[in-house]
Amino acid sequence: MLVADLQHFLDLGPDTPGPARKLAEHLAGIVAAASAGDAHTPWETALPCRRRPANRRCPGRITVVCPQPDQPIGWRCTCCGDDGTISNWSASIYDLRRQQLTAAQPRHDIIIDADTAAILRTLPFLDNDCQRAVFAIRALNNELHLAMTDTELDELINTLAAESNHEPHRRRQRQLDTAYDALTAATDQPR
Ligand SMILES: [Zn+2]
Repeated sequence: MLVADLQHFLDLGPDTPGPARKLAEHLAGIVAAASAGDAHTPWETALPCRRRPANRRCPGRITVVCPQPDQPIGWRCTCCGDDGTISNWSASIYDLRRQQLTAAQPRHDIIIDADTAAILRTLPFLDNDCQRAVFAIRALNNELHLAMTDTELDELINTLAAESNHEPHRRRQRQLDTAYDALTAATDQPR
């Protein structure tokens, strides 16, 4: 079990070796997802497992449970059992808990693939509600569900379009465009 203190993984310098940076990204994603989703009950995120047993990517996804803010987040891979805890996460930049109660609004339930979920996690400059929805993407029966209001969906689509316009790398631009198409198609579906 990996027992981690998030504070040790913030502000890594440019000399930080790749594996340490990858681990920091893994932990940051878990904190973002755990704090974005339901508290107290374990749920399966869209985050892929970081392990590569026998040089093949573990097909599992990360299940998280978000406790009281002063308690460590728990996580576990659905496939290989890789697991850990993360302490000192609350009030960090990855803590996406809602700061105030808001009235529940109707949401689209959009089924997306793992590549789209991954590209959405890389978008800079998302507002808090969009970022929360992206990290709260939930795996149910092996499908990934993105739940968003109309306003959040519009914001996300606009961000994807702007990001694609400025993207110099063709491969990432294609991924952004695929995500754009998937989400635009969802706006035509009833909520
Ligand atoms: Zn695994």
